Amino acid sequence: MQNLSSCLVVLATGGTIAGRAADALDNVGYRSAQLGVDDLLRVLPGGVPLAVEGEQVAQLDSKDMDHATWQQLLRRVAHHLARPQVQGLVITHGTDTLEETAWLLQRVLAPLKPVVLTAAMRPATSLQADGPQNLADALAVAATAGAAGVLVVLAGRVLGAADARKRHSWRLDAFDAGDAGAVAGIEQGRLRRWREWPAGDALGLAHVAADASAWPWVEIVTSHAGAAGTAVDALLAAGVRGLVVAGTGNGTVHHALATALDRAQARGVAVRLVTRCAAGPVVAGPEHRWPVYATLGPAQARVELMLELMAPPT
Ligand code: ASP
Repeated sequence: MQNLSSCLVVLATGGTIAGRAADALDNVGYRSAQLGVDDLLRVLPGGVPLAVEGEQVAQLDSKDMDHATWQQLLRRVAHHLARPQVQGLVITHGTDTLEETAWLLQRVLAPLKPVVLTAAMRPATSLQADGPQNLADALAVAATAGAAGVLVVLAGRVLGAADARKRHSWRLDAFDAGDAGAVAGIEQGRLRRWREWPAGDALGLAHVAADASAWPWVEIVTSHAGAAGTAVDALLAAGVRGLVVAGTGNGTVHHALATALDRAQARGVAVRLVTRCAAGPVVAGPEHRWPVYATLGPAQARVELMLELMAPPT
């Protein structure tokens, strides 16, 4: 049962959902992160199920997302989750790094209330602006009694944080959840749910170094035809702490790159394997010489390895 005095909190971080262009037909030459949270909320029609509080946490194009902003967002989300009157949160975000932020929030906070990330593929000035509907849908999900976990809402679908991937550079329904499928669909503000809400153990805010500049340096390297180990050797020399390898197919890696990765691992660099395929897991087997993150995309795996390296050695 929802408390009559309960509310929703919208944390705005920028992105195309807050973007503006001079021309309503211009869906490319716009500037992200121009509208504030009050502007985003103002265009919503009535019918939002609960009172809504807005807070501007950042104002950036999410291609420029950084660890300090993530640290601040984690703190603000944790703060609002702890308020008994808050039923759920919505975070407006750019689409480019949305799946990374979603995974960070899920792993660190694993919230028992809904934390719903939403975004847009067209700026607010566009004839095709999808932000207001996505925001309205995200608020409907955040207001749903019993909803939990970090969720991604775009184009009428609700995706779990672990599964959500931006798979299309242009279409309005740019995200999907691969083999896992969507958690729910939203039609006229009503949810049709197919899967359980995301759940898991929270690492907790205390796990994450308060000084974001102290977060371990983790890079992604990709295996491809003609790959060499030179970049890995350079990263090793520069002090990298972890490497996520986006392998071909079922986590296969060019022999020249593999040799360099072994060299890095022997020098204490943590190496983790994922696939560069747009869908499907790495089905782990004896041929995989580094630990596998079976179902995470490379960018989410980078977050996972950073969090792993923040843990005190056992
Ligand atoms: N570059 C934009 C961003 O990620 C793209 C978007 O929001 O769709 O902030």
